[in-house]
Amino acid sequence: MSDQVLNYLTENRDRLLNKLKEFLAIQSISTDSLHKSDVRQAADFLYAYLENIGFDQMEIIETPGHPLVFAEYNQAGKNAPTVLFYGHYDVQPVDPIEEWKSDPFSPEVRDGRLYARGSSDDKGQVFMQLAVFEAYMKTKGKIPVNVKVCIEGEEEIGSEHLYQTLYDKKDIFEADFAVISDSGMVAKNQPTILYGLKGFTGIEIRVDGPDHDLHSGMYGGAIRNPNMALAHILASMKNMDEVVTVDGFYDDVEPLSDAERKLIETVAGEDYAQATGAPSTASEKGYTAKEHTMARPTFEVNGMYGGYQGEGTKTIIPASATAKITCRLVPGQDPIKVQQLLKAHVDKAAPSGVKVTVKKEKLSANAYKVEPDHPLIKKAAESYTKAFGKETVYVRMGGSIPVVEWIEGLYHIPIVLLGFGTPEDRLHSPNESFPLDSYDKGMETLVYYWETFTEN
Ligand SMILES: [Zn+2]
Repeated sequence: MSDQVLNYLTENRDRLLNKLKEFLAIQSISTDSLHKSDVRQAADFLYAYLENIGFDQMEIIETPGHPLVFAEYNQAGKNAPTVLFYGHYDVQPVDPIEEWKSDPFSPEVRDGRLYARGSSDDKGQVFMQLAVFEAYMKTKGKIPVNVKVCIEGEEEIGSEHLYQTLYDKKDIFEADFAVISDSGMVAKNQPTILYGLKGFTGIEIRVDGPDHDLHSGMYGGAIRNPNMALAHILASMKNMDEVVTVDGFYDDVEPLSDAERKLIETVAGEDYAQATGAPSTASEKGYTAKEHTMARPTFEVNGMYGGYQGEGTKTIIPASATAKITCRLVPGQDPIKVQQLLKAHVDKAAPSGVKVTVKKEKLSANAYKVEPDHPLIKKAAESYTKAFGKETVYVRMGGSIPVVEWIEGLYHIPIVLLGFGTPEDRLHSPNESFPLDSYDKGMETLVYYWETFTEN
């Protein structure tokens, strides 16, 4: 039973919390070259900690940037599954420093929250995982699963060398499933399973007319206006019902099942209009705002510019106009294919009298989803509920987490996102903090989770 493990965490709470504070005190700001040796120090800290608690093999994997900490534990037995645990030990810069109520690298507890840069994102959550491994080792002599640890030092600067490392070292990182603790719950103490992320793609449309801005009195009526041409093209891509009218856009979209719609319905969710100040919400016809944000693809014009934008009037026909478009995609959609569909639509919609060019954005990502009733997910939901004493809600997110897509794409394994952050943690901002009751209950969740893998 897990009692012994939980008792260990209680009895050693002060010592473990001090250890976490030691980890948080290291100024591992990955973007700032002045902190290069601090970043390394954080990697060394993890290496020593993992070695100390009894991992079998540790390695600091060098990259052209900051190193990655690898460690392996393989004493759980042949029949036990192997989990790949991913996290990051680097942190965001602290500016503006004067807004911090306490030093970002002198961790301080106030009103039940631990204040420090990285307390939530992601050192605190990484440490919780390692402390639970320690508790298992010290009480049971083993962890119920074999573990491969991958903790990188470049997440906050775009994980520049992670993909290559995961690609090159597939043999050492390969596992049956992955666990990531670098996300949050929809509300404090509301157990949350994040089981889907959106993909991403984008294009830029440029409309060129005359080779310079023209006098509208002299040429209006003879020359097509690029701004207007662009407006026509954009209007032909999505209608007033928020339905994308690009041929084939929805072809590969995985339909939203009734079961999932029910799941989405149970999430308390925010009042989008109230939270944003918009007069009302607008979602794809046939879907609620929650359904559209979580589980349906979107098409956004992120920026458009062309012509005179200063005060007063200027009677011109502008030489050119540009629009930047990105789409958030759902499972089934191939970002490259969607990009081609967008381009084909624009090419067809381009009116005469202007030259229309489409630039494909380089950045693209596939959507990710694990079935909410996957046994690994169910175990996680049950563990959350047991620790927090509350039903777990299931959500999909409009954003993307690159590492999730990479692990999925390279290793084809299920990924369980066990996040414990809260919306009030102020990630990347001054006064980042993490609630200590989430810290305790989060570790309890992990104890129950790993417990489910114990062989009978
Ligand atoms: Zn993070």
